[in-house]
Amino acid sequence: MNITIIGAGVIGMTSAYYLSKEGHDITIIDKGDGSDNCSFGNAGYISPSHFIPLASPGIVAQGLKWMLSNTSPFYIKPRLDASLIRWGLKFYSKSNEKTVAKNAPHLNDILQLSRNLMIDMDKEFDHGFRLEQKGCLMLYKSEKTGKHEIELAHEARRFGLETQILTAHQVQQMEPEVAVEVMGGVYFPIDCHLHPGQMMKSLYSKTQKEGVKILFSHEVEDFETQSDQVKAVITNNGKINCDQLIIAAGSWLEIVSKKLGIQLLLQPGKGYSTTYVKRSKNLQHPAILVDDRVAVTPLGTELRIGGTMELSGINSKIEMNRVSPIVHAVNTYFPDLHLDVQPIEKIWSGLRPCSPDGLPYIGRSPHHNNVIIAGGHAMLGISLAAATGLLIRQLVQKQKTEISIDPFRIDR
Ligand SMILES: Cc1cc2nc3c(=O)[nH]c(=O)nc-3n(C[C@H](O)[C@H](O)[C@H](O)COP(=O)(O)OP(=O)(O)OC[C@H]3O[C@@H](n4cnc5c(N)ncnc54)[C@H](O)[C@@H]3O)c2cc1C
Repeated sequence: MNITIIGAGVIGMTSAYYLSKEGHDITIIDKGDGSDNCSFGNAGYISPSHFIPLASPGIVAQGLKWMLSNTSPFYIKPRLDASLIRWGLKFYSKSNEKTVAKNAPHLNDILQLSRNLMIDMDKEFDHGFRLEQKGCLMLYKSEKTGKHEIELAHEARRFGLETQILTAHQVQQMEPEVAVEVMGGVYFPIDCHLHPGQMMKSLYSKTQKEGVKILFSHEVEDFETQSDQVKAVITNNGKINCDQLIIAAGSWLEIVSKKLGIQLLLQPGKGYSTTYVKRSKNLQHPAILVDDRVAVTPLGTELRIGGTMELSGINSKIEMNRVSPIVHAVNTYFPDLHLDVQPIEKIWSGLRPCSPDGLPYIGRSPHHNNVIIAGGHAMLGISLAAATGLLIRQLVQKQKTEISIDPFRIDR
């Protein structure tokens, strides 16, 4: 089959990886140059621990409180945008116990499947992703956050996840190289992490060796259709014919899908990261500094830190007033690290493709018989990439899917 995939992010690439094993003729189209997108500079967590969707009770009240501060980890740029308003209303209506109880088991299933597949893929790629199975620490400084994290740990156990509730002393023992200033932590041994940039480079080189064509600097502008079939993709660099189309355009998913009359709700959630090289002392485990919503990832002798969720539309502008609090937070948890705020050229930004209910979109277009959508993975794109790629292959091949994809359908 002649398959065209729009988007050379992690979701498009894992789809290509699984499909190329079946001998299909695959072309990936991307408007970028292959050196960056949201899949490159993120924190690299593979997080079965994140089985509670972003839309959950308390998040709206917390978000409104954060909105009042220009240095907080969450920000919505006020604007009259119909898509943002529809998304916000849906997010609000989904942030309740009932929806979390319904969605968390599905998120748990796909997270667990994806973790195992990603470990296999890294092995097959001669550890080119630099994947490490060291777990992840959720660290907290306040009693209120601790109570919440411990409740989550108990909930995780009900889902069969191993968790360890740690005192400050026990956290310190796990991080012998640096002083740790916390009230306590919860450890999820099942979590893993990898080097996202290395993972993307490995995916590009391995799939190309397997015969996948990647056309960078090709921006999708329109489609050629015949009844319920997409016949070709029109780009600024020419027309590409297809038997099967997969749209994996990250934060541009809503815009690209709309050209085919497919309506879905999606908002780009901007986040930042910055990487410190050649650390003489480093962390041994990735950690989330829960009170401040900051992620820290040791990558060999490098240390990457990141955070913030800015709903300010499609833009990659770096707001230093939101970057400095990330650095400050890390220094308050790990005072020995003495991190400086790096210059703006060393700050990376990426757009998380956020669906309003915290589940990805994986399924067929309701209006076409040869279009599949894969996206909206928000803060879990790396965690869910391998399972998404496998499910896309099973959808294309019209096979029974590994897990039910009904919860992820486009018109849910
Ligand atoms: C600070 C930060 C930290 C994060 N940490 C983690 C983490 O630890 N773990 C985790 O699981 N996730 C994490 N994420 C989320 C993760 O990075 C994303 O979910 C994931 O990268 C999304 O992948 P994608 O392939 O859908 O999109 P992208 O990587 O953005 O790829 C989409 C591609 O589509 C292309 N495209 C769009 N429109 C067009 C068009 N019209 N024509 C041609 N090409 C087009 C774009 O150029 C782009 O290359 C983090 C994100 C951020 C910002």
